[in-house]
Amino acid sequence: MNALAEPSHKISFALHGVAAAPGIAIARAQLVSNATLEVAHYDIADDKVEAEKARFDNAIAAVRVQFEDIHERMKSDDAPAEFAAFLDVHWMILTDTQLAQEPKRIIEEQRCNAEWAVTQQMNTLVEQFKQFEDTYLRERANDVVQVVERIVKALMGKAADLPKGDALHTSALVAHDLSPADVIHFKENAFAAFVTDAGGATSHTAIVARSLGIPAVVALHNARSLVREAELLIVDGDSGLVIVNPDAHVLAEYKLKQESQRLEQQKLKRLVSTRAVTIDGTAVDLNANIELPTDLAGCLENGADGIGLFRSEFLFLHREDLPTEDEQFEAYRTVVEGMNGRPVTIRTFDLGADKRMPGLGDRPSENPALGLRAIRLCLAEPKLFMTQLRAILRASAFGSIRILVPMIANAHEVTQTLAFIARAKAELTAQGVAYDQYVPVGGMVEIPAAVISLPYFAEQLDFLSIGTNDLIQYTLAIDRTDDAVAHMYDSLHPAVVKLVAMAIKAAQKADTPIAVCGEMAGELRLTRMLLGFGLRNFSMHPKQLLTIKQRILTSSLSDCEAAANKILKTDDPVKIRGTLAKLNAL
Ligand code: PEP
Ligand code: MG
Repeated sequence: MNALAEPSHKISFALHGVAAAPGIAIARAQLVSNATLEVAHYDIADDKVEAEKARFDNAIAAVRVQFEDIHERMKSDDAPAEFAAFLDVHWMILTDTQLAQEPKRIIEEQRCNAEWAVTQQMNTLVEQFKQFEDTYLRERANDVVQVVERIVKALMGKAADLPKGDALHTSALVAHDLSPADVIHFKENAFAAFVTDAGGATSHTAIVARSLGIPAVVALHNARSLVREAELLIVDGDSGLVIVNPDAHVLAEYKLKQESQRLEQQKLKRLVSTRAVTIDGTAVDLNANIELPTDLAGCLENGADGIGLFRSEFLFLHREDLPTEDEQFEAYRTVVEGMNGRPVTIRTFDLGADKRMPGLGDRPSENPALGLRAIRLCLAEPKLFMTQLRAILRASAFGSIRILVPMIANAHEVTQTLAFIARAKAELTAQGVAYDQYVPVGGMVEIPAAVISLPYFAEQLDFLSIGTNDLIQYTLAIDRTDDAVAHMYDSLHPAVVKLVAMAIKAAQKADTPIAVCGEMAGELRLTRMLLGFGLRNFSMHPKQLLTIKQRILTSSLSDCEAAANKILKTDDPVKIRGTLAKLNAL
């Protein structure tokens, strides 16, 4: 019998959140650990238990090696004695049977994955430490968590076989929060949906979920505590609704909706090789946003004209160490060769804020989104930046590559970046390594300052791309990852639409090509407005390409322009929405 066919007899209720990735999933809840560490929980088949225990032992061994390394480095660095004492405590925790052995008993007893077993044991130990009268001992609970974090990272670096087939496709992950690195880790493992308490619709976690093509709802506030393991869920990623234990009628209704969406998607496939032109014959470029080379298949299947945004930092988010030049070169070359002559826009590392990498710009910061991130971080880490630029340039010998610089705001950032690129080119020339000497360099317009000073940037750079996700965050002072303010994050705020239109107009005046690569480019209700502003280059996650193409094919530019002018003349959000609704109804 189909595990999802049977309606539950438990209490049915609905949770409202923010729609983060479209589509409908009907799936069993799979809770992600409630501990500081968010790890997935899944069953291990009887014949895989020994292998899972061995995987745990390997992770412990890997962390031992890390500690030994740190110990050696401390000797040569003349580190203060407190560091040594601190390390000794961690070593003791790691080697104690409570942590080194007990999780294996849990794996065997509960037939669960090692990450889950070790976090369960961590929770038990933390509770025990908290009972101590002695303050020093009570505080050691934090050390237990830190050691377990290392073990879990070691485990995730080499993940076990996740359940395959139906068991996985019918699971919806329910977590308090997931980091972009967690979601990337799940990328190879096709869950049916994501549901989180935290986050906003344009948080990187939501963006990756969207690129996976699975429905996601975020900002649910307390789904993790209300939903129980294996409860049946309907995840409606179109309206931001999660229905827990639906009754038979609701279930039947959603199955129908799911089927009609599937048919709609199938129909859209006819447009794959159709050129996107408006009714009046104006051509529009439709590019794809990707995070990993494995996203290439989706770009080709959906007829992308090129890659408008390769978020290169996602390649390495789940790693402990920095990627080598050769590793990066291979990744970039795979993408550019896979695109077969079509342009590939590689954004240089946009690390920092919610995309942290151990050892890089990850010092505590009150306002990480305003701190050392993106191009600021790259310029502060010349070795990291040069390594990436050399790798991109080397890959440019294999196809059409463009370099895109994130978060430009100041003139010197562009000047310095261009100087870095010139130096990387000079090095490669001296070494006799091939590259495209005319590789175009562009900048992301995602800070209001960049819009206002756009004529300057247009003069210095070959192309521009509006990152609306950050542009909205920085214009409205809304943290895009914070569920408490997610409802105020508004792509139709009068100030946002004016800034986007202003950037497009200024770039046209300077004769510099401009695209939108933020999530606004893939929002169906905004397509005609953006066309009306003069946008002719959209970049979005591949799954959205055909839907947007269909809208362009049925749009009249003169109608779009008339409505866009009206939208730009008002500061009344209700009027903006009204004009847009009329435009979309045409
Ligand atoms: C943006 O900010 O709109 C953008 C495309 O970049 P990211 O979402 O990766 O910050
Ligand atoms: Mg951005």
